[in-house]
Amino acid sequence: MTVPLKPQNDLLSATGTTVFTVMSALAVQHGAINLGQGFPDYEGPEVVVRAAAEALLDGRNQYPPLTGVPELRAAVAEANRRFYGLEIDPAAEVVVTSGATEALTACLMAVLNPGDECVLIEPLYDTYLPVVRMLGAIPKLVRLTPPKWELPRAELAAAFGPKTKAILLNSPMNPAGKVFTSAELAFVADLVQRHGAYAICDEVYEHLTFDGWAHIPLMTLPGMRERCMRVGSAGKTFSLTGWKVGYITADRSIAPNLAKAHQLLTFTTPPNLQRGVAVGLGLEDSYFTGLSATLQAKRDRLAAGLSALGFGVLPTQGSYFITADFRPLGFSGDDVAFCRHITETAKVTAIPVSAFYAGADAPNHYARFAFCKADAVLDEALARLAAWKSARVEGVREAG
Ligand code: PMP
Ligand code: GLN
Repeated sequence: MTVPLKPQNDLLSATGTTVFTVMSALAVQHGAINLGQGFPDYEGPEVVVRAAAEALLDGRNQYPPLTGVPELRAAVAEANRRFYGLEIDPAAEVVVTSGATEALTACLMAVLNPGDECVLIEPLYDTYLPVVRMLGAIPKLVRLTPPKWELPRAELAAAFGPKTKAILLNSPMNPAGKVFTSAELAFVADLVQRHGAYAICDEVYEHLTFDGWAHIPLMTLPGMRERCMRVGSAGKTFSLTGWKVGYITADRSIAPNLAKAHQLLTFTTPPNLQRGVAVGLGLEDSYFTGLSATLQAKRDRLAAGLSALGFGVLPTQGSYFITADFRPLGFSGDDVAFCRHITETAKVTAIPVSAFYAGADAPNHYARFAFCKADAVLDEALARLAAWKSARVEGVREAG
């Protein structure tokens, strides 16, 4: 006799497919220009790709060391010194992972016990909340809201308590485009220190800041060197999102648990890609300044076009993304409806900003547009949105 299957994991069963995958599939279905999921439509630096390709052919294709190939760990330590003045031991304070996504999960695994509280800031990247819950920890959500995305200091302080084990902070922030200021970071650092907590720092957009905004790792603030886990992503820094190479910089007292979390999750990351990324991190300063200058010009191009169409474009200090209020265009539905509508009708895809909030009362009149695309693609997207807008105006006239 058989009995019906028991239910699978409740948390995973209750978790939907990521909004990025859903919207990318919808874009393909409707032949839309995909300004949704954040990936460049151009290649990363040729020397980096070539180094990885050549590394495939030189016979080092078996399991690399658990914490990463020595070349990459050395390059991560050196980049910490070059960009932020952090002195890092490459042998004991760097762990290479399969993307920042794995790195963030490893950081949460390294410190959280069931019942611990973890402070998360909305809008939040889609893996944070389910992973915290899967670990049996308790998320304490603090909300930033557009258009100002100000850090609500009193609420943040109230979210910390005796059970707080960690905060997860994303700067530059997706989708807000916010770069946390040194004053805001000092406020966070003070709370973290007063509660004996750790800080998990999602800094994947560290090199994508604009208008002179400098990214400041929380780890560089006084007293924070021993409590921060700083996460970077080769996907963003070298426009190679498919590679999924991430790196964590953390004090030698934390790194062993990070390595063990990585051991359980994936154990290692493809050695040729690691060696390509090591070459990338060693590129001259002009590569990094050129990357942000190129993206700043793309941001300006898309922002100007969206503003001209009537969108309420919010400032972006860093990341790949612009958030824009679509209400001035007279669309009365919510952001999910709007992003579906423009995908199907204008043939341009964006991401609803409410997807980055856990609560039902999230801001729901903003769309996130990625500008890490060829200029011609951005121009075509704007032309399509303009055509869609005129057709709507015509439609309203005829209906009236
Ligand atoms: N954090 C944020 C804020 C992101 O936008 C992304 C984008 N993918 C990630 C983490 C994950 O990075 P990776 O692709 O290296 O896993
Ligand atoms: N980070 C990317 C974004 O925010 C998406 C990554 C993913 O699809 N998981 O668009």
